Amino acid sequence: MTRKISNKRVVVVTGGTRGIGAKISQTMHEFGYKVAATYMGNDKAAKAFQEKYGIDMVLKFDVGDYQACSDALAEIEKKLGPVDVLVNNAGITRDSFLHKMTPEHWHEVIRTNLDSVFNMSRLVVDGMRNRGFGRIISISSINGLSGAMGQTNYAAAKAGIIGFSKSLALEVASKGVTVNVVAPGYIETDMVKAIAPEILAKIVAKIPVKKLGNTEGIARLVAFLADDANGFTTGATFSTNGGQYLM
Ligand code: NDP
Repeated sequence: MTRKISNKRVVVVTGGTRGIGAKISQTMHEFGYKVAATYMGNDKAAKAFQEKYGIDMVLKFDVGDYQACSDALAEIEKKLGPVDVLVNNAGITRDSFLHKMTPEHWHEVIRTNLDSVFNMSRLVVDGMRNRGFGRIISISSINGLSGAMGQTNYAAAKAGIIGFSKSLALEVASKGVTVNVVAPGYIETDMVKAIAPEILAKIVAKIPVKKLGNTEGIARLVAFLADDANGFTTGATFSTNGGQYLM
């Protein structure tokens, strides 16, 4: 599997203190990266996570706010050094059919899931280009590929991440920077546990492997894409969904 990084590259994982992001932070830490994990408001989870795994830095800010992202990245670079790997993982859902969706729920989801990817990538890309190395990995979703009822906002944001990443991949390909997307299916996290049990049972019944995915698999895929040796994989979207949606 992915080897230990000897030169201590720096990775930032947004939404990196809970769920999929926490497993990514933990895995990258185990592989020898210096890790900054960010979050929005759940101080208790962030503190417990940092104490349990000895993550280098945990920071609280809103990834939808460009200035807050800029301030946080300055703090990270001061303490840990320039950012080599960015994992855009923070995300939320605000589901409803479009005929009932409020403009607030539309904008909130686009802001947190898609504006955030612009904000964070824009702020690290110059440095990556100049240093001739970088990895930008963003977490999309099966529902950004397939569409999903009640998720026009979320599917638009998650599909947007794919177009964004393909375009950026082309812009930075000659600069040693790769840009890729991981599109998970249903993974056992708080976000999925929030789905009503009867609806979740119906979802699992439709997954060919008949179970939810685990965070470990996503984290290992991210680590593979972040690896120094993996400079040839770029502009790609990796589905990991138990066979639920095949492209
Ligand atoms: P969780 O709800 O478990 O965790 C979300 C994380 O994002 C938390 O750390 C949260 O911070 C942080 N966050 C939310 N909003 C903001 C914000 N505005 N600014 C900064 N941080 C924020 O999510 P999951 O682990 O389930 O999902 C992670 C990613 O994977 C998301 O992008 C999601 O869309 C995607 N995904 C998840 C799937 C699943 O099955 N779970 C399937 C497909 C994709 P705090 O802890 O403070 O609340």
